[in-house]
Amino acid sequence: KEKDPNQEEFHQAVYVIFKSIKPVLVKNPHYIHHNILERIVEPERLITFRVPWVDDQGNIQVNRGYRVQFNSAIGPYKGGLRFHPSVNTSIIKFLGFEQIFKNALTGQPIGGGKGGADFDPKGKSDGEIMRFCQSYMMELANHIGPDTDVPAGDIGVGAREIGYMFGQYKKIKRSFEAGVLTGKGLLYGGSLARKEATGYGAIYFVKEMLNDQGQSIAGKNVVISGSGNVSIYAIEKAMELGANVIACSDSGGYIYDPDGINLDTVKQLKEVQRRRISEYALIHPSATYMEGSSGIWSIPCDIALPCATQNELDGKAAKTLVENGVKIVAEGANMPSTADAIALFLESNILFGPAKAVNAGGVAVSALEMGQNSSRMAWTFEEVDKKLQQIMKDIYQNSVQAAEAYHKPGNLISGASIAGFTKVADAMIEQGVI
Ligand code: NDP
Repeated sequence: KEKDPNQEEFHQAVYVIFKSIKPVLVKNPHYIHHNILERIVEPERLITFRVPWVDDQGNIQVNRGYRVQFNSAIGPYKGGLRFHPSVNTSIIKFLGFEQIFKNALTGQPIGGGKGGADFDPKGKSDGEIMRFCQSYMMELANHIGPDTDVPAGDIGVGAREIGYMFGQYKKIKRSFEAGVLTGKGLLYGGSLARKEATGYGAIYFVKEMLNDQGQSIAGKNVVISGSGNVSIYAIEKAMELGANVIACSDSGGYIYDPDGINLDTVKQLKEVQRRRISEYALIHPSATYMEGSSGIWSIPCDIALPCATQNELDGKAAKTLVENGVKIVAEGANMPSTADAIALFLESNILFGPAKAVNAGGVAVSALEMGQNSSRMAWTFEEVDKKLQQIMKDIYQNSVQAAEAYHKPGNLISGASIAGFTKVADAMIEQGVI
């Protein structure tokens, strides 16, 4: 904290991981002898840069670009790019730090990285988005490559932005290196099922949690915050498995329909028209729209999936969820629950799925996209989806087993952190002091 003041989100992410791995350090003091903790919180490299671009009125705008290359112990840096006005060093470092352990959990050979810019894509024209992406890639291209660092999407970065960045990278390098970015369009090296992978993966993980209780998701009432990439495909898979998804949101507010929301309308509004979720209630008068996104947690439900952004579910919201009888909370977004919310869920014996396990399906399928690119193969949707299901099962089992091995049965936050940490730490030790 002394070295990096004002990095609250980063400190929060480190706190949660270090707390979870305490039993590992007690049992294996060699991690302390190798000074792994101090080494692992220091990024291998943090790059910031100027991103100048020209808006539609001809004004020159400037944003700040970031890439953190946090840890390459088990593979090339891998992690998404976030375009959102809240992006700063703390946000990028928390996301990059989490990514190290998440990527290790997937079982794929990928290290941890993350990046983005404090650029707000809302209300920008296609031309403005393209010019921004091209300027951002002009600098980022110096730092990435299929064997060094492979970015993907995150908040505000989807297939459109990846396309513009890929086009610019190809032009700069004069070489078609498909494996330099993931989340690409299907016409130029993207993988089937990548778009769906994070949301589907989250539901596959919840399915495993329920299986262990002898239950299924069918008939359960589910609340899913956000209405972006992760939320939409979590809603889709949950509905396919018979759940009743009764609410979703955006940063302005939430919609609630006790009979189940209409996913086609959400997709049309968000994926095609890039509109606000408030407009849903104009199309479906049976639904209620409420201003303020955090109110979504006041809706009674069996399963709550925060899939929007960090710290969207605080202690107060957690208390309401618990009082209303929630059984499972699984994090589709990165660090959506505050530390006090997590503590309350654990105390109240709510089944809690932590982000680094629950949302790892996205990056896992990104690694499968890299594999398809380097072998010049394209797998079917069914092949990728089958692998994703197996990966989510393995992540669940590995987290359960690690929690048991360190006397924290049922505590998936400890289990997931321990399983990810030990793999990365052991690889770091084998590679010497680098
Ligand atoms: P998108 O940009 O597609 O969607 C983000 C959604 O969250 C939008 O509906 C947005 O609403 C909403 N949102 C943003 N800020 C807030 C807020 N303060 N309160 C309520 N809602 C808000 O992003 P993704 O779906 O890709 O990402 C969502 C989360 O999942 C992030 O935490 C991301 O890091 C994580 N994640 C994503 C992966 C992926 O593959 N995409 C992989 C693993 C994790 P609005 O439009 O109003 O801003």
